[in-house]
Amino acid sequence: MLINNNVTYGLDIGGTKIEIGIFDSSLNLIDSWRVSTPTQDYQEFLNTIAALISEADKRSGQQASVGIGMPGIIDSNSLVKSANVSCATGKPLVSDLKNILKRSVVVANDCQLFALSESCGGAGDKLPIVYGAVIGTGAGGGLCIDGHLYKSKNNIAGEYGHLPASGTLLQKYNLPLRQCGCGLVGCIENYIAGPGLGWLYQYFGGGTDCTVTFVKDLRNENLIAIHTFKCYMDFLGSSFSTLVLSYDPDMIVVGGGLSQIDEIIDALPDAINKHLFKGIKSPIISRAVFGDSSGVRGAAILGKNHDL
Ligand SMILES: [Zn+2]
Repeated sequence: MLINNNVTYGLDIGGTKIEIGIFDSSLNLIDSWRVSTPTQDYQEFLNTIAALISEADKRSGQQASVGIGMPGIIDSNSLVKSANVSCATGKPLVSDLKNILKRSVVVANDCQLFALSESCGGAGDKLPIVYGAVIGTGAGGGLCIDGHLYKSKNNIAGEYGHLPASGTLLQKYNLPLRQCGCGLVGCIENYIAGPGLGWLYQYFGGGTDCTVTFVKDLRNENLIAIHTFKCYMDFLGSSFSTLVLSYDPDMIVVGGGLSQIDEIIDALPDAINKHLFKGIKSPIISRAVFGDSSGVRGAAILGKNHDL
């Protein structure tokens, strides 16, 4: 069977599920399915991916190139670092998969692939500089220039969740520095991702760290929820203003669970402007077009571009 460019496979590897999507040359999803992620045994992890690709070859009648997105990063020595799939950490995943699958395989961070998906046919289609920011269980993102992912030596350009939270804001709201899962202290992710928002609400006396309850309370004009929201938007606006100062994007596309909260999206441009110089305006803020499917779609675009 020859390598065929009519279809591409995109894999989205999460801590619990691996989703595979078969896409045609116009990036229409033809077929997709999911299996559980083996996180403890590296050989089993490789076997699971190999079985998915073999099944995809059978279903498509072709042998397509493979793009993979996963949480974590591929370092400059092509080794994986991933907290969610611990068995892959320190392993040469790309070269191992190339050996097994006998075809082009490329792996990237899942939030970077979210950005790629949105800059190719998504909310930021045809715009020169698009930043994709995910605010969900974590805060990650990626930068795309002219529809291509900006690649860098350590593959960490755009990891805005681990920039430090503003000292001015920590002092203003009298908040402690929080230990981050990455090993650093005071990363912005701990104040702006879903668990961070829940933590803020509880810290200010909301009585719960549940973000669903927080949104309900906010809509009922609960004073603690309003205060929490004001603080949260200050932190989010501040961190996005850092993106504007760093990359000056035409658009920031927002995805992840918290992007579903209208109040956050509506308040974001003003919150960003507050942290920029006079005369500089927030870029267009847009919700993602491809919600849950952005992982496999971005992975397929990566695989397709890599194969050209
Ligand atoms: Zn961190």
